[in-house]
Amino acid sequence: MILLTFDDAVNDVNFPLYEEIFEEMSASGRRRTNPNGCPIRAVFFVSHEWTDYGKVQTLYARGHEVASHSITHRFGEKFSTEDWRREHVGQREILHRYANIPREDIRGTRAAFLQIGGDKQFQMLMDGNFSYDSSVSIFDNSPPFWPYTLDFAFDMQHDCMISPCPTRSYPGLWEIGLVMWQNLPGGGRCTMGNSCNSPPDEQAVYELIMSNFKRHYESNRAPFPMAYHSAWFTTPHHKAGFLRFIDEVLQLGDVYFVTNQQALQWMRQPTKLAHIDRFEPWQCPQLVSSAPKKVLECLRPNICLVKFRKKNNVGSRYFKTCQVCPTDYPWIDTPDLLEN
Ligand SMILES: [Zn+2]
Repeated sequence: MILLTFDDAVNDVNFPLYEEIFEEMSASGRRRTNPNGCPIRAVFFVSHEWTDYGKVQTLYARGHEVASHSITHRFGEKFSTEDWRREHVGQREILHRYANIPREDIRGTRAAFLQIGGDKQFQMLMDGNFSYDSSVSIFDNSPPFWPYTLDFAFDMQHDCMISPCPTRSYPGLWEIGLVMWQNLPGGGRCTMGNSCNSPPDEQAVYELIMSNFKRHYESNRAPFPMAYHSAWFTTPHHKAGFLRFIDEVLQLGDVYFVTNQQALQWMRQPTKLAHIDRFEPWQCPQLVSSAPKKVLECLRPNICLVKFRKKNNVGSRYFKTCQVCPTDYPWIDTPDLLEN
């Protein structure tokens, strides 16, 4: 399982990249598909500011997972549980209202700057009925860690790289940790693919990703995290090496790019490779008829001119959504945001 994730705002700046990876043909003239024939999919951890919710709706309609990366994107080490709630329950509600995603499909969070908030954050996840967090950097990578539950008091099976880590038990909650990569020689380890040292050419990009992937693929097959910010791909050889890696591992026949929710479904119901092409949670969403309400792509969004009160400044913003325009730019202090 490869867990490809993108953080921060989704908008005109990065949407063409997502089109190229997920919709356009690879060099071999085929769409990038998993061995079961379904298109490869990713998770978008969406932060609010500068996000075009029409485009988020389109990503969701195409079967990607959408999760919360907070409203204001601030460091949360001093947040109270209520602050965490405003950021992530609030962002889930914004995603629901303006990208038309059912609340119950927004199941995960990633803390801004991967700055986790210990028990205050995890209490919010529990109270807010989230299923998982995916913010914790895990240094130990040989063999790599699998995602784990917080059913029992968190006794730190791995080092806490960024404190505070949670100390209590949170039954039912999962941590999909970011198992660190081995950087280029002399570079230590890195959590995000774009936080490793920049390889000099396409071949070196490809080798960096492949060598890290193999540590998972050739040992215990813990899901391999590929966590990125879109800006990294503006360097052409970064994108070329990345796409070459994807196209090559898809030839292996037993490698799937799945969402975090799909990875957890497999862990709850481990299924042998011999039967994996019929594993229901990994089927293409378009083919699952149980979906209660089909969300359509947003082709012609409303372009809303809205008031934005940030601290003492009153300005305006353009805000795109296929849903009804708000009058004010949604923000951390929007009055009715946490009522559902
Ligand atoms: Zn971020």
